[in-house]
Amino acid sequence: MKVEQNLQAIQEKIANACVKANRNPDEVNIIAVTKYVSIERAKEALDAGVTHLGENYAEGLNAKWEELQDKPNWHFIGSLQSRKVKNIIDKVDYIHSLDRLSVAKEINKRSNRVIKCFVQVNVSGEESKHGIQPEELTSFIEALKDYPNVEVVGLMTMAPLTDDESVLRHCFQTLKSLQIQVQQMELEYAPCTELSMGMSNDYAIAVEEGATMIRIGTALVGEEK
Ligand SMILES: *Cc1c(COP(=O)(O)O)cnc(C)c1O
Repeated sequence: MKVEQNLQAIQEKIANACVKANRNPDEVNIIAVTKYVSIERAKEALDAGVTHLGENYAEGLNAKWEELQDKPNWHFIGSLQSRKVKNIIDKVDYIHSLDRLSVAKEINKRSNRVIKCFVQVNVSGEESKHGIQPEELTSFIEALKDYPNVEVVGLMTMAPLTDDESVLRHCFQTLKSLQIQVQQMELEYAPCTELSMGMSNDYAIAVEEGATMIRIGTALVGEEK
């Protein structure tokens, strides 16, 4: 399938979800996750009108960046090790996976501008998942005050791999309520206006529950590589 056709189908589903939830579809940004596909396929996504690309490894991001430079907005969505921060920091517009102070410290040190970050939260409690525990979120956010180059623009989560709609919905609702908690802290460095949640299998539910950035790989660009 052409990316353009996939994009149209996704936009329709987003529009339907927004009607259900009484939301404005303009609030929902699609990030094309290109980790499985070639640079050509990433270009096709840009030609189809996608403006955000996401990669989960420093190597993958760098390879595509070489070619596409700053044409798209770049999102780093994978787990980030401190020692890899310097390899991506000048190229990314957003980091979705902040969950350790050591990484925040490194971002702060390696960057000469403010980096838009999402704090990743392990809402589902699965041991295999990255992210900080919900009950640790506010103290983690407070501790970020020491790193002025880190701005908390939102929260990110990965839902469990399940078709059980109530489990997915509960996960996204929990992230939404955590977002409100952070907003109530009224910290200048943590406006927390965004919610990065929803992937190929669950983005319609995520949009119904308030997602502003959905990260879509398989359903949009496929997994051809
Ligand atoms: C791979 C990945 C996605 C996209 O997954 P699909 O199911 O292919 O849409 C989204 N978010 C993260 C963090 C990923 O690693």
